[in-house]
Amino acid sequence: MKKIIAVDGPAGAGKSTVSKIVAARLGYTYIDTGAMYRAVALKVLLSGKTVEDVTQNIDIKLDESGKVFLDGHEVTKEIRTPEVSRGASDVAKFGVVRKRLTELQREMATQGKVIMDGRDIGTQVLPNADLKIFLTASVEERARRRFEELKEKNFAADFEQIKKEISLRDKQDSEREIAPLAQAEDAILLDSTDLNIEQVVEKILQLAAC
Ligand code: C5P
Repeated sequence: MKKIIAVDGPAGAGKSTVSKIVAARLGYTYIDTGAMYRAVALKVLLSGKTVEDVTQNIDIKLDESGKVFLDGHEVTKEIRTPEVSRGASDVAKFGVVRKRLTELQREMATQGKVIMDGRDIGTQVLPNADLKIFLTASVEERARRRFEELKEKNFAADFEQIKKEISLRDKQDSEREIAPLAQAEDAILLDSTDLNIEQVVEKILQLAAC
């Protein structure tokens, strides 16, 4: 069984949904690195301090149940707003932020039996991962999924607006200079446009077993 699994891909491809299920089935720890960039963005937005200042002195914790803590306070819900999504993609361009979070993420993976999702896990954070997946889907389908997800959580949602924001985030994430969103050479491409969650989970479980 593969001990370290890296899942990368653009926004809304279903990375966190399927990674959580795969982790539960394998008894692995799921690490949501996007939540960490979101926590940095939230702190910048709330404190009005510079990205550099915030990064120097920040405490981010993820617990087993998926809760996110920023400086000891739970921020699980607060980091999911569209404003924080945009902010996360903005702070993710900074070398200081990436360096700090990459260190933390590597530390979190040292015990093995980990599935970590993000944008640069297979390329930068865990280049020696045993299995690398690049999970993608058409922008229409990703926007549709995000729209449903936001509606379910009772956030205001406008499909065209979400599609625009996802495309902008993809562009920013793929074009930034440091650790851009990219498929690692040895990653397996999984296009989930026409697959349901269970089909993607099954595919990853099969790959993890060989
Ligand atoms: O995955 P999620 O949509 O929560 O990530 C929010 C933002 O954090 C992404 O748009 C990206 O800019 C940034 N991110 C990153 N590297 C990661 C994970 C997330 O740059 N490994």
